[in-house]
Amino acid sequence: MRETNPNSWEARADAHSFYGFTDLPTIADRGATIVTSGHGPYITDVHGRDYLDANSGLWNMVLGFDNKELAEAAKAQYDTLPGYHAFFGRMSDQAVMLSEKLIEVSPFSDGKVFYTNSGSEANDTLVKMLWFLWGAEGQPQRRKIITRKNAYHGVTAVSASMTGKPYNSVFGLPMDGFLHLTCPHYWREGKDGESEAEFTARMGQELEDMIAREGADTIAAFVAEPVMGAGGVIPPSEGYFQTIQPILQKHGIPLISDEVICGFGRTGSDWGCQSYGFMPDAIISSKVLTAGLFPMGAVILGPELSDRLTRASEAIEEFPHGFTASGHPVGCAIALKAIEMVMSDEIKGNIARLIPQFEAGMARLAEKKNIGEWRGRGLMGALEAVQDKATKTPFPGNLSVSERIANACTDQGLICRPLGQSIVLAPPFILTDEQLAEMFDKLEAALDKVFAEVA
Ligand code: PMP
Repeated sequence: MRETNPNSWEARADAHSFYGFTDLPTIADRGATIVTSGHGPYITDVHGRDYLDANSGLWNMVLGFDNKELAEAAKAQYDTLPGYHAFFGRMSDQAVMLSEKLIEVSPFSDGKVFYTNSGSEANDTLVKMLWFLWGAEGQPQRRKIITRKNAYHGVTAVSASMTGKPYNSVFGLPMDGFLHLTCPHYWREGKDGESEAEFTARMGQELEDMIAREGADTIAAFVAEPVMGAGGVIPPSEGYFQTIQPILQKHGIPLISDEVICGFGRTGSDWGCQSYGFMPDAIISSKVLTAGLFPMGAVILGPELSDRLTRASEAIEEFPHGFTASGHPVGCAIALKAIEMVMSDEIKGNIARLIPQFEAGMARLAEKKNIGEWRGRGLMGALEAVQDKATKTPFPGNLSVSERIANACTDQGLICRPLGQSIVLAPPFILTDEQLAEMFDKLEAALDKVFAEVA
């Protein structure tokens, strides 16, 4: 039960902090968790309680909450050039170096990078780039963006329109011209008796039908996360991207990989598109890009889009777009260090070592009678709670099962995220074996407690 003292941190948070993406009944009941510091994968609250953060903050703090090397990179840059922009032909040396580095570590042979302050803005920027490009190339009607239901691409008006979540209807979104295909989640969306291969073929046919209905010459791009993250950690059905990509290529529609979560190791490869064996035309990046230490996003254009956009910009003398803090030198310096660390043998080795243990832990918990499936890839996974395993029937929404599980975890010092009827885990890349065991032990205790209450 929560603190009632009006001077408590919890009451002060309520008084003047407007909560976003927060379950208000939970806050009314329990109060916000106010975080003051962190060490390794743990955060510490105002009461001195430690929590193992099994979501790496919001998928981003993969190198922990007190990483000294990253902090030193930031400090050194603050001492040298603490801020600058990337307008009017000026930019910092750090931005130049980061762009070189991003192209070097990307799957692309060549390309260019544009910086934003967030993943949402990177998706907005991408859409504006494509609208600009198609207009300059004499096809101004090519404005529609295809994404999938359950996809998460951000919260700005454009990226929220790309997001395939029903909650955006409260804003009157999506805007016109944002189209959503079926979520390629075979376990939930597959029909009775339909094989996974048949399901994937149906997803391809649905795309073909949409393109035929809308007209290929009205479509600007198809944007997809390799594994849907905030939709509930949903890997695509087998062969999905191999089915989708040739259809897009046939119609000249660019395929964009939103790697805000999947990029930099989360799926067990450097990039999620590599885990699923496809080559996108551009990549959207953020989060692990700065290991969560600086707000930054990037549009990484592959060679073809980058050449076309450069030509289109030259034709009207400029690309009229940019944010005050695009390519901020401190963000770039942190990103250069974060990329060096995340791509080091040490961190890649730890991810590779953790993945089999992570999968084994998830598979063990999925044996419980109220877990319908576990799904995931690399170091991201979800356990979906069900009332009836055989029929995959969810618990009634008013039981708030996943919120209760997450709250029971918090009570034991573990942060994990309820998403729909699922519990999502995306631990930091620096986890030790003991911390991984702690995560699963605490989650199991929470599952057992809540299932005993509701089953
Ligand atoms: N794309 C994806 C795949 C994301 O997961 C997110 C954030 N969770 C975004 C875009 C938006 O990023 P931001 O919150 O930095 O705007």
